[in-house]
Amino acid sequence: MIKVIKTMKYEIKYDKELYNLLSDIQHAIWLIKNRATTAAYDWQQFSFSYNERFGEYPKEKAVIGKTLAPDVYGFLKEIGSFVSSSIIDTAVQEAIKKFKKDKVKILKGEQSIQIYRRSGSFPIRAHQLKGLTKLNNKTYHTRLSLLSNKGAKERNCNGQFLVTLITGNGAYEILDRVINEEYKMCDSRIYKRKNKFFLLLTYKFEKEIEKVLDENRIMGVDIGMAVPAVLAVNEDKYYRQYVGDAKEISDFVAQINNRKKRLLRSRKWAGDGSRGSGRKKLMKSVDAISNKIHNYRETKNHTWSRFIVNEALKNRCATIQIENLSGITTDNAFLKDWTFFSLQQKITDKAKEHGIKVVKVKPNHTSQRCNKCGFIHKDVNKEMWRPTQSNFKCLNCGHETNADLNAARNLAIKEIEKIIAEQLKEQKQNAKHEGKYLV
Ligand SMILES: [Zn+2]
Repeated sequence: MIKVIKTMKYEIKYDKELYNLLSDIQHAIWLIKNRATTAAYDWQQFSFSYNERFGEYPKEKAVIGKTLAPDVYGFLKEIGSFVSSSIIDTAVQEAIKKFKKDKVKILKGEQSIQIYRRSGSFPIRAHQLKGLTKLNNKTYHTRLSLLSNKGAKERNCNGQFLVTLITGNGAYEILDRVINEEYKMCDSRIYKRKNKFFLLLTYKFEKEIEKVLDENRIMGVDIGMAVPAVLAVNEDKYYRQYVGDAKEISDFVAQINNRKKRLLRSRKWAGDGSRGSGRKKLMKSVDAISNKIHNYRETKNHTWSRFIVNEALKNRCATIQIENLSGITTDNAFLKDWTFFSLQQKITDKAKEHGIKVVKVKPNHTSQRCNKCGFIHKDVNKEMWRPTQSNFKCLNCGHETNADLNAARNLAIKEIEKIIAEQLKEQKQNAKHEGKYLV
């Protein structure tokens, strides 16, 4: 199952009172978003001068972030206090998020500060839309909460408005599915075009992915030391994905091991270290530290395996091919590390849940083979075709690429074991005739 999020627009049927109110809200949100952006900019400037004077940045949360800049608050009282706080909060967050995204460019003068248009859209949170009911295939009713308590009081109503949605071709089916809870409504927007208001409805649902998997598509997963996993897809020569950061793990392990070392060193000072409760306590803390490493790696492996299987689903790969790391006979030290085996195991388990077949390939030669011309290199002259851990350079065709990506691409080939076996046979025969140094 994968989560799908989509949008569909629905015309909001004209009603004088409703349209006037929507226009008022649109107007207020336009002013508020611009004011929030200016406040964020001013805060930034203030923050710089504060830093210059005091050598540190002021706490942001006190002014923007969860709470709005006091300036915006003051402004709301004047202009937007009748509007539901759900709309205002979301709009202000949007403006501040946008400012933060553009901040670096704005401060460098490469981009100007965002100016919102009078005709812009405004957000509607999912919980503001209630009681969707069907009248016929073209019209639906829903109740929309638009006002704050203050606004409702001023207008002498309960703040909710009955809205008639008009559907276009096929769009009604989506609303039917929302009604029978097959689809779930999400945070949406209201916008205006040619004097008509529209609801841009965002909805989500879960979809069986098994049906869309393509039997011809294979994802190759190379598990390695430099990068925990590199992905390739046989039918997509541009696809590549580097998963995770091995350095993150090694940093964590180094940090934890240092702590362990310090603890063990402290043992020297604990008098008789060989027995007694002091030693027991110490060993307990050492064990706790080892557990921390284990847990950290397991958590990472879960995250990575989930990501990899999701990538396979997104790329409609019915098969994942991965090196067989069980029953390891190779002398590569890292392969003996259980964490790689554990990652492989987790990928296998999660793939099966989604109906993806996992094929385990003999690890021999998948990193020696050039994915472009198929030539298989020998370990004897490894420094020539594998000048560094991360570089692969084919001695036969000159193809150069990331070594792990090259392996992943080999792993993404159908019946790669057979192809490698045939290639080896051919190279052996050629060697008899030519005696090339390559083989
Ligand atoms: Zn080649």
